[in-house]
Parts: sequence; structure tokens; C-alpha cells
Amino acid sequence: MYDFIVVGAGYAGAVCARMIAEQLNKKVLIVDRRPHIAGNMYDFTDENGLLIHQYGPHISVMNEEKVFDLLSRFTEWIPYHHTVRAEVDGIEIPLPFNLTGIDYLFDVKKALRLKERLIELYGFGANIPILQLLEADDEEIQRLANYIYEKIFLHYTVKMWDLSPLEVDASVTARIPVRLSYDNRHFQHKYQVMPKKGFTCLFENMLNHRNITVQLDIEAKDMIRMDEKHGKIFFYENEFSGGLIYTGALDELFDFQFGELPYRSLEFEFKMWQKDHIQDSSVLNWPDDRPATRRTEMKRLTGQRKDNVTVTITEYPGAFQRGASGYAEPYYPIVNEECQKIYQKYKKKAEKFPQLVPVGRLADYKYYNMEATILRALDVFEHNICKEKA
Ligand SMILES: Cc1cc2nc3c(=O)[nH]c(=O)nc-3n(C[C@H](O)[C@H](O)[C@H](O)COP(=O)(O)OP(=O)(O)OC[C@H]3O[C@@H](n4cnc5c(N)ncnc54)[C@H](O)[C@@H]3O)c2cc1C
Repeated sequence: MYDFIVVGAGYAGAVCARMIAEQLNKKVLIVDRRPHIAGNMYDFTDENGLLIHQYGPHISVMNEEKVFDLLSRFTEWIPYHHTVRAEVDGIEIPLPFNLTGIDYLFDVKKALRLKERLIELYGFGANIPILQLLEADDEEIQRLANYIYEKIFLHYTVKMWDLSPLEVDASVTARIPVRLSYDNRHFQHKYQVMPKKGFTCLFENMLNHRNITVQLDIEAKDMIRMDEKHGKIFFYENEFSGGLIYTGALDELFDFQFGELPYRSLEFEFKMWQKDHIQDSSVLNWPDDRPATRRTEMKRLTGQRKDNVTVTITEYPGAFQRGASGYAEPYYPIVNEECQKIYQKYKKKAEKFPQLVPVGRLADYKYYNMEATILRALDVFEHNICKEKA
């Protein structure tokens, strides 16, 4: 019999499973409805020997020592610096928009003037959210801010969220600030690396423990039943006394009683090219009104060398549609008050089950990057699982 059941074999579930197995010496069953482990980090090797990220490009960027140290137990790394370019009026400029972008887009004199004024106002090296730049107390900088807003943020945000940058939560646009330096790297994190043999291999190693059993193609609701009246959990119709770590969506777990939580989704177009490379940067963004948002060249991410073949992933955003043939994966929770209200109702319901521990981007209904997911899982392990459930 298992001491813990973990639903979902992405980072949230896998980290919890490993900690429970290793540190508490308890038996864990981890299940996933997909036919593979690794959640959205899943990658596989294609017929050309190229590593492909099935759920869109994923980069390992970390600041926290404890996250880097934990993952380093399960993989070797290759150094990596993520480069993103945006195509603006036919010119490719680095993203986040920075001083190099100004040099590329304006004549020398104007570029110099704009850069000097920006640095005077905000200081060299500052990262300024576009919404703050739009409020600049300087006419020329305001004109520049409007230009950047229109050329970089407006269409991209509308495509991605079906909302303008002024309508989405400010935290969304703040993720890509205007950077007053010549640092053309996309991320500024301490650790920017990729797992040498891919993410799936990292997950295989993490889940390879004598106390962990992995079962795939299992739908949580086919295995567990939530008895709301008594706050009990049943595992194949037997009362379960252990802990249930749940990384799926809470609205699903509670049969959409308060309505469905909305998400944005993506469709991916995978394309093979008979060329060594198709673009200079890892990612090429199209912040204009064509339907795709960006194209990633996998070889640029993984550092693999293969002649005359390369694969790109182009992303088309849309609204999540449960059970449809397209846009069927819930990728990005919608950050607004209305959705939070619905989510809080599910969270309250979850709290009625003392054995239930929701964690991860679906269960918490929050956009977490990989590092934030792992930190959250470690925090939940320390504060909810160790203290109350062990
Ligand atoms: C397109 C895209 C690009 C991204 N790029 C990056 C990046 O470059 N760097 C970065 O740090 N982060 C990135 N992220 C975020 C990253 O994917 C997440 O932080 C991370 O995958 C979250 O892990 P998780 O375990 O919470 O969720 P997931 O990885 O989604 O895992 C949840 C798992 O639970 C399973 N599950 C759900 N419900 C059930 C159920 N009822 N029964 C059985 N199984 C169930 C799902 O099948 C899934 O495998 C990106 C996200 C997207 C969408």
C-alpha cells in the first residue's frame, strides 16, 4: 500500500514524490494521465536524433542555489544563454527591448539622444516596465514608449491573451521590461543551463527511487474519489489514509461545481528544414498582427550539431477548449480578479480534505516558471507534507 499518491508527473509532482520517498522513506505512487513523465517539460528524440520539446520550448533559468543543487543531482548541464529577437519593421532586435534595439531602429543622432535621456531619467542598467515608461515625464521618451508599446507589446499581448497590455495584469507585461543596457541575453538569471540529455532524462533520474512507483495513462478520477460529505479520499474504492499531492486543476477535481477556470492555450507547428540553421537566435518573436507569436529553433536550445537538418516550433495562441482537438491543453492561467474569485471557492473546498495537498501551476492556478514550481513544491513539502502528513 502507498503512503502518498501524487497526481501529475511534472516538476511539482516529481519533486514532491522524490522528497517524500527519500527524506520521509515513504512509499509513493505517482500517476499521470499522459503517456509520459515530465509534464510540460517533456522532450523526446525525433527521427533525426534531434531533441524536441513537445509542449513548447523550455529553458532552465534559476537564481536559487537550492533549486540548482537539487536538479544537478539528476542531470549534467550544458551552459546556455537564451537569445530572443523580435522582428520589428523587418529588423531583428534583441528582446527584451534594450539600448541595442534603439541603435538598430533609429538614426545615430536620435539613438544617442534617446539613450542619454533614458539613462538620465532612470539610470543605466534599469529594467523599466512598459506601463511605467508610458508615463514618462518627457515628450520624446513618451513618444519612444508609445512606439515600443505598439511595436513590441500591443499585438503580441493581444495575440497571447486576447487582451491589450493595459487590460492584462501588470505582472504579465512586467515580465519583459525595457532594459537600459546592452545586455542582449533574454534572461539575467545566475544559472542559465540546459540538461545535457534533456528534461525527460532528468525526470527519469529523479523518479528512479525504490520508494517510487510510476503509472502512466491514469486519469486521477478513475482511481480516486473525493467524499465531500465526510472529507475523505477513496483509492479504488478503499478509504485512503495517506496524503494526496494533487498537481492537476482543482475545478476538474471538484467537477466544475463553481464553473470552469479559463486558460490560454497554444497550438504548436513543428517543422523540419533541410538546412543547418533557420535563424540566428533561439527564438524569433513576431510582435505584429500575424497569427503566430514566435518560432523557436530546437538546435539553438540544445546545442546539438547536425548538418542539413533542423526543427522549428511555431506557436499559435488561443483560448483553452476542454476536450477539443485543438487548444486542448490548459497552459496559462488567466490572472484577474474574477478568475481568482472562482479559484478561491475551489481552494476552500480543497481545504475540507485534510489529506489533500494542491501544488503546481494548475492546482495553484498561477503562472509559475520551472524554478517557481520547484520552490513551491519544496515549500509545500516542508510546511504541509513533513509537518502535518508524515
Ligand atoms: C509554452 C510554455 C513554455 C514554457 N517555457 C518555460 C521556460 O522556458 N522556462 C521555465 O522555467 N518555465 C517554462 N514554462 C513553465 C513550465 O512549463 C512550468 O513551470 C512547469 O511545467 C510547471 O510544472 P507543474 O508540475 O506545475 O505542471 P505540469 O508540467 O503541467 O505537470 C502537471 C501534470 O499533471 C498531469 N495531470 C493533470 N491533471 C491530471 C489528472 N486529473 N489525472 C492525471 N494526471 C493529471 C498533467 O498531465 C501534467 O503532466 C513554460 C510553460 C509553457 C506553457
